[in-house]
Amino acid sequence: MPRPDFAPDTHPLEVIRWALREYPDLAMPSAFNLNGVVLIDLAARAGYSGEVLFVDTALHFRETLETRDRLAQRYPRLSFVTLSAGLEPDERYASDPDACCAARKVAPLSTYLQARAPSALLNARSRDQASTRANLGFLEEGSRVRINPLAYWDRATLEAYAREQELPVNPLYWDGFLSVGCWPCTRAVRPGEDARAGRWAGRGKTECGLWVGDRSL
Ligand code: SF4
Repeated sequence: MPRPDFAPDTHPLEVIRWALREYPDLAMPSAFNLNGVVLIDLAARAGYSGEVLFVDTALHFRETLETRDRLAQRYPRLSFVTLSAGLEPDERYASDPDACCAARKVAPLSTYLQARAPSALLNARSRDQASTRANLGFLEEGSRVRINPLAYWDRATLEAYAREQELPVNPLYWDGFLSVGCWPCTRAVRPGEDARAGRWAGRGKTECGLWVGDRSL
């Protein structure tokens, strides 16, 4: 199927509207970071009324869970689905964070997606979040197409949009937690660091495994 050749300055709404026409069964995983909250709002404006998938690792900040609940109230037409591996909190994140992420994050979402089998995923990543995302485009091919409508929006643009629309951004964001994951693996970002520098800081790990590798998601 031929893909549209979206220019980098294409508005995310246009990309989302195309995606909804092309992949009406798409799914949207979210961690409710700034990018995620902006994408949820844009998707709702574009007419999306499907699922927002959240993986509860049992190690999230209280503020993240409260953000999910505020979003569910604000967007009643969307279906907020919380997935979980059902594991009790432990300290595996300290000894083997890759295995911890694989069990707590990747496995629940992967299992759900295998059963639900959407043809595409709407994803909130953007280029300026980290050097590892610097080449991200609107579309990524794979067993499931990933659509990244925010690929070219930078942090200032995302913040301006969130303020303009009065979105319920995770309050930790405004305290410097520019990317919020589980509490044992997240710290506030320091001046000059990229937005994801506070994730697994000092552990040589930059991704949880959801968006890298064999594209099994
Ligand atoms: S972010 Fe940390 S605590 Fe959360 S699943 Fe990954 S390793 Fe475990």
